[in-house]
Amino acid sequence: MYLVQVSDDTRLKVISEVERLMNLAVRKWPGMTKRLPEVLFDLKGIKAGCASADKWQIRINPVLLNENTKEMISQTTGHEYAHLVAFCLWPPSKGRKNEYSRPHGIYWQIVMREFGLEPRRTHSFNVSNSMCYTKKAYEYSCACRDKIIVGSVRHNRINKGYVYLCSKCGTKIEPKVLSVKF
Ligand SMILES: [Zn+2]
Ligand SMILES: [Zn+2]
Repeated sequence: MYLVQVSDDTRLKVISEVERLMNLAVRKWPGMTKRLPEVLFDLKGIKAGCASADKWQIRINPVLLNENTKEMISQTTGHEYAHLVAFCLWPPSKGRKNEYSRPHGIYWQIVMREFGLEPRRTHSFNVSNSMCYTKKAYEYSCACRDKIIVGSVRHNRINKGYVYLCSKCGTKIEPKVLSVKF
């Protein structure tokens, strides 16, 4: 299985950020579990990050992390960990659906604000209805690589006639499929 590598330095920064937010949450809410979630850098495809309260786990998309390191460390890490905090403090139950079970509902928003993060979409990420958020990107390929992820800025330039050459094999990168939203 091919997985994009994330440097130790970046991994450490993500984990340190979770730890910082965990300490902040524990101080603010005595009911908060002081337990670091497992952080995996293996999320593929359409999502920047994903949180699972059952597994007490956060998964980060390594491609998007490498492309948007700073924003992913603060925004995505905080976004996903906020799901775990909201779940721990205000667990959804049958009797009280609505706000409690909405992934990006009022309780998640409270946690995000406490973390100093805007619980809304930013210029580069769109908040979806799911537990995760999505970013638009396109799949390209060249002679040496089957899959090259290209962001919308570069994709639009290519559509206007710009040519990008692969830094490894020197061939032109071409759209693999029409366009893949992910
Ligand atoms: Zn979310
Ligand atoms: Zn190449």
